[in-house]
Amino acid sequence: MIFSKKVEKNGRKNVYKGMSDSVFPVLGLWLRRIAAFLALCAVFSACMYAEEGDDDGGLHVTFLDVGQGLAVLLEENGRYALYDTGPDSAALVDTLASRGVRELEWVLVSHAHRDHGGGFMEFARAVESGALRVGRLYVGPDAYAGIVRDSVLRLASRLKLPVDTVARGSVLGMRGGDAPSGGGSGAAAPGARLDVLWPPKGEGLAENAASVVALLEYAGYGVLLTADLDSAGERRLLEYSPSLRADLLQVAHHGSAGSSTIAFLSKVAPRYAVVSVGAKNAYGHPAAPVMRKLAYVVGDSSAIYRTDRDGSVTFDLVEGAGVISPAP
Ligand SMILES: [Zn+2]
Repeated sequence: MIFSKKVEKNGRKNVYKGMSDSVFPVLGLWLRRIAAFLALCAVFSACMYAEEGDDDGGLHVTFLDVGQGLAVLLEENGRYALYDTGPDSAALVDTLASRGVRELEWVLVSHAHRDHGGGFMEFARAVESGALRVGRLYVGPDAYAGIVRDSVLRLASRLKLPVDTVARGSVLGMRGGDAPSGGGSGAAAPGARLDVLWPPKGEGLAENAASVVALLEYAGYGVLLTADLDSAGERRLLEYSPSLRADLLQVAHHGSAGSSTIAFLSKVAPRYAVVSVGAKNAYGHPAAPVMRKLAYVVGDSSAIYRTDRDGSVTFDLVEGAGVISPAP
């Protein structure tokens, strides 16, 4: 009212009226267009957010507490993959469901032992009911034709999963055999890349010695997954990969004294190590000498994690920030 009076008093009423007839409708039209554009932007960004979830980027590597066994969950931008499944007694499907995992791009079973592949047998009901989708199964060239290998392959066939055998030279991305080049480092877009380092093709290795060993790389950082590789395998792996090193090491064979030579550990020179092991297991894993060697090589006992003591542990690999370890 005051403004209106002022307009009238200053004799500008006609000017104002003229603007309202010509300029303001145009201005209003543009304001409406801008508002519509901003609303569209908001909807678009909301859709993007919904598609990507609340992920803050990076690669997340979780060593699941599966008791005496190994299961490593990988997650990048809402995509999941699994390296080993733990034993068939670890309620892996429930664990995945509680973490919101409805789809695994692939599952890799490192070798045909129950504590690494037994959990795969749990997938039958979840996959057949549609509660879980599994894209593909990878196995190593384990020459041991035991009941676990037979059962895993029979179930994969029943579930109509494509099965591929991986060996040294195989490269996987989160979607399977489509790894980004360069492990996400340099100018390339970040992306997880799993380089299979062991076993070489045609070696006829079996059981622990045939463990699929892989270097998981992201943005220039490395996680070495060794499954149950033994000390003879460690020595030969270094002959194949003399410059092998990693920021984070999955300690071989649950900390068994038959793995983790000081030569291998000091070559890999990890900043962090994880022993996936069951509490009070019958094997006495991890062996005290292995834990001493780890403390010596890592140089910080608080950087050595154990799933029997710490439960499931997640490391975040973030471009520019490095490997972020779980809070103590
Ligand atoms: Zn094992």
